[in-house]
Amino acid sequence: MREDLVQEAISKRIPLHKIAEVFGVDENEAAKIRAKILEIKTNTKLNKVSSIIFDFNKLVGKNIENPIGGVALPVGVVGPILIKGDYANGELYLPIATTEGALVASVNRGANATFKSGGIKTKILKDYMTRAPVFKTQSLEMSLAVKEWIEKNFEELKKVAESTTRHGKLIDATSFVIGNNLFVRFSFTTSDAMGMNMVTIASERMCRLIERETGAKLVSLSGNLCSDKKSSLVNVLLGRGKNVVAECVIKSSVIKEVLKTTASEIVDVNIRKNMLGSALAGSFSQNAHFANIIAGAFIALGQDVAQTVESSQGYVFAEQRGDDLYFSITLPNLEIGTVGGGTALDAQRELLELTGALKAKEGERAKWLAEVIAAGVLCGELSLLAALASNTLAESHIKLGRGLKTER
Ligand code: NAP
Repeated sequence: MREDLVQEAISKRIPLHKIAEVFGVDENEAAKIRAKILEIKTNTKLNKVSSIIFDFNKLVGKNIENPIGGVALPVGVVGPILIKGDYANGELYLPIATTEGALVASVNRGANATFKSGGIKTKILKDYMTRAPVFKTQSLEMSLAVKEWIEKNFEELKKVAESTTRHGKLIDATSFVIGNNLFVRFSFTTSDAMGMNMVTIASERMCRLIERETGAKLVSLSGNLCSDKKSSLVNVLLGRGKNVVAECVIKSSVIKEVLKTTASEIVDVNIRKNMLGSALAGSFSQNAHFANIIAGAFIALGQDVAQTVESSQGYVFAEQRGDDLYFSITLPNLEIGTVGGGTALDAQRELLELTGALKAKEGERAKWLAEVIAAGVLCGELSLLAALASNTLAESHIKLGRGLKTER
């Protein structure tokens, strides 16, 4: 790294984001210079951060601006999970990046219980990505006229939208009128991409056409009815990303041996905690910790981590079948992809390979991944509810979250 450039940048107060441009250095050198400037100006050390190796020449302009290095997180693996899905099939593995001790062990316990009981069935019920711009009109009457124009000209809108992408297909444009405000929720299938950039670019083109043809004024390309990176009921009811369901029946002997409890105790915890407790809390979601598995898997697999907010909304249903347990989880809006975003980063790509998703046919890779993640969520939920039912949650966190090594 050029020390002289560090000194020059400080003395001439060159903005950090202009380092590469002003000095004509590549993005890797610029990242090192930036880190050094920060060390000097803040009297801190960034040795570890700047020693994480990325090729910023590939990432700047796509994944990051103003880079100074990276952070590393431990990755644990869950599996084998026996999955019998419409797309994902076989004994599969789910990587989880986390610093929460006991989490991976617990999800593995769920994987073990479901494996011994014949596996997990998974199904995708809906699959599309949405963007919902908001327009300003002159009046309610005009809002209704624009709504009608959109309905009548759906094919024209579709043509304009699909001219921006090879994989995105517009499948719906539903209008919501509030006085002189018109929200249009555009839905697209996006093949293997999560699709947020894809549908945003396509939606922008449609908005220009709507403005030109109707006189409505675009206020914001996102009107929050999309609904991206916020918890909401609209995604749960209408869908966003993949609506995935995973279910299994756990044999009573396995509940006893592996989960150390009974079917009726797990059902009871689910009713009183996940259902009643969540209702009392006014929560949209009724689960114990979907976010743990979703966030860990998203980080490991190059997904947009902020979408953990809505992707971890969902429901658990449990009922007794004699002494056995029927157990299902529903993720109404799981937003994931196997191309785009962080999925091209080297380590994340290796972990995507590990899930088996990249061996699926084009157009079925993200669906495969969705089913693996949903199966992992089921394992995590089953194990945690069992731990609560048998009162062993605190004990396992003392063993695995406080540095004491134990055998599993
Ligand atoms: P993207 O990388 O922007 O787009 C996916 C790209 O992959 C497209 O160029 C697509 O080409 C191409 N592609 C190649 N093979 C494909 C296949 N089999 N299936 C689908 N696409 C394929 O990714 P994105 O999923 O649309 O967006 C994800 C990114 O959006 C993340 O980085 C996320 O952080 C960011 N994000 C953006 C917003 C926003 O408002 N813009 C909001 C939230 C998150 P074609 O388009 O030609 O088909």
